[in-house]
Amino acid sequence: MLVNLLYKVVTSSDLEKEINDVLGSMGFGRKCAFICDDNISKVASGICSSVSSSYDLDVICPESMEKRHLEEFSRRLNSYDFIIGAGGGRSIDAAKYTAFLAKKPWVAFPTILSHDGVVSSRAVLNDSGSKASVQAKEPAAIVVDLKIIEKAPYRFLAAGVGDLLSNVSAVEDWKLAAARGKEPFRPFISRLSLLAADSVIDSTEEIKSVKSGGIETVLWGLIASGFAMNLHGSSRPCSGSEHNFSHALEALGAGALHGEQVAIGTLVSMRLQEKDWESMRNTMEGFGIPVTAEGVGISEDMAIDALHDAKSVRDRFTVLNLHDMSREKCRSILEEVGII
Ligand SMILES: [Zn+2]
Repeated sequence: MLVNLLYKVVTSSDLEKEINDVLGSMGFGRKCAFICDDNISKVASGICSSVSSSYDLDVICPESMEKRHLEEFSRRLNSYDFIIGAGGGRSIDAAKYTAFLAKKPWVAFPTILSHDGVVSSRAVLNDSGSKASVQAKEPAAIVVDLKIIEKAPYRFLAAGVGDLLSNVSAVEDWKLAAARGKEPFRPFISRLSLLAADSVIDSTEEIKSVKSGGIETVLWGLIASGFAMNLHGSSRPCSGSEHNFSHALEALGAGALHGEQVAIGTLVSMRLQEKDWESMRNTMEGFGIPVTAEGVGISEDMAIDALHDAKSVRDRFTVLNLHDMSREKCRSILEEVGII
């Protein structure tokens, strides 16, 4: 088993001042490609000007998340010494995939904390009309500007919490699969995944008030989740039937945040697993995470279709395999947990 665990984590309320010391300690060369989209280049302009005072920096924005386009784009990175990927999901995924192809070290600079993909070694891209999860690589460092996270809409941080709470149903699905001899269960890794969920529950008020301690708890939860997935070599410790539901929603064109979609999926999964979904719903409501289809902007029919399709979106044993997921059953479960 090969596990790569080496990366730095830096949180700062004054990252503009500290960023060059951090980069200097990494021993990179002078040429930096700063990958982001147009919106992020505004949010991160202070960091960009700090970095450009010591490094030869180019801000470059990939035109699309198409796998073929990014493969082409990665050739432009050959002349750089390192890459900074700034933003939410898309830019981070673009940076981790193109850095992997170009064999360059990269630094993750998340400007929101809405999902646990920041440190994972896989990237989600578009590939001929559908989403594909492809091999990429972990960052050499994660740098977080607490001021930027504080200024971002709270919805993103709440979605990050939703992604962490989904670890509860994901681990339960993993246990169900292991009990049927489908795959081995690894207690240490499962506890790491659950630790991420428990930690945010213990810090509800601090997270809701977007204090630096609350932000750091979410960040460490996301890192622990990514760490659990990297240790296991797949997303299994943090991704079960609730993620199947979210993937099915995406295939149907839903546009809610990943963490919001998996949060409502978690309620359905916990109901099917005969776990305490009601207290989980209270927890989510306490964070201000939407717990209805309307709240995440999807129609009742789309929720029913997605739950119906969820079993077949990928080859992973979950609680969905133990139930007849007819449309009638899907409707009644979604009604019971209050999603529709
Ligand atoms: Zn997730």
